[in-house]
Amino acid sequence: MKTMQAARLHQEGGAFSVDTIELPDPRPTDVLVQVKACGVVPNLRNVVNHYSTWFPFLPLPKLPAIYGLDAAGVVAAVGSNVTAIKPGDRVYVNPGLSCGSCTACRRNDQINCPAFTFQGYFGFGPGSQQIYDKYPYGGFAEHLIAPVSSLVRLPESVTFDQAARFGYLGTAYSALRKANFAPGQTLLINGMTGTLGLGALLLALAMGASRIFGTGRNEDLLRKAKALAPDRIHTITLSAGGSMHEVVRDATDGYGVDVLIETLGPGAPAEATLDAIKALRRGGKAVACGGMADPLPLDPFPMMCQQLSYIGSLWFSTAEGEDMAAMAQAGTLDLSVFEHQRFGLTEINEALDAVEARNGGFTNVVVTP
Ligand SMILES: [Zn+2]
Repeated sequence: MKTMQAARLHQEGGAFSVDTIELPDPRPTDVLVQVKACGVVPNLRNVVNHYSTWFPFLPLPKLPAIYGLDAAGVVAAVGSNVTAIKPGDRVYVNPGLSCGSCTACRRNDQINCPAFTFQGYFGFGPGSQQIYDKYPYGGFAEHLIAPVSSLVRLPESVTFDQAARFGYLGTAYSALRKANFAPGQTLLINGMTGTLGLGALLLALAMGASRIFGTGRNEDLLRKAKALAPDRIHTITLSAGGSMHEVVRDATDGYGVDVLIETLGPGAPAEATLDAIKALRRGGKAVACGGMADPLPLDPFPMMCQQLSYIGSLWFSTAEGEDMAAMAQAGTLDLSVFEHQRFGLTEINEALDAVEARNGGFTNVVVTP
């Protein structure tokens, strides 16, 4: 029996332990990927410590479980029906899995599959455990198997550490696309210096934003973000008081911005989003992709009159991942800004500490099995 090392969680609130388990064989339409880097989600400790009280509509994998959401590596073996991907290919594994046969899947709308599931994290429907049974491997292991349709082929210019950020980058990219964000348009990123907000900034620059307003609390991080494109980026310090929509209105002759990307996470106050929505121009679109959980008292009548949209956006498609790989190869998407912190498989518990102590979105904590 061939084996591999995998970091597994055995009990709620427990530490990860590195176990020797059987090396899986790829089924006909699967690939076996040797993991070179896997991102560490800032929220992961919250999940593993609160297994029993986690949202019942977001099923977690049965224990023992291999976590690890954003894996990148080298294809080690392919199934018998796989033709265009070969051993040795460098890939990012999109962890968004779907059942493959429901109405949404047959419409090529995998994210809206009722069983949509994050490989190595959590699921979104009662069908998720069935998917975990088929794909129980996250990125905190030496290898994983994944459907070949989940792979984004990486150009040589994208490192594995950078690719381990594709989850956050793709979430931001898909949010911008759902807002029909177009070259020359303007944008407000609420929470620009965070892990997701910095992704939105990099993608908006790549997509030809003419002006980007970004909020944050940490002056140093805001300065660092502005330095990426000083003429196009306008920072707004939240702790300075006042309202962000007034800053945006003043700077746009009262017009407002085309798009708001709301990246604030659970625990952020509803007022922050309500203030940001007021920065939208007539017909503007707000996209929530950060996990803001406070109930929002929205006024539907003014929203109707001003044709405003408030859209929820989750994750991104493999096709959008391919777009990002192409933009990175072309040099329009700059992935050089990340400061990588690497941890071995035996150091996952330290990696979780490091991600909690991160220096805003610039820090990229990865596990390198
Ligand atoms: Zn489906």
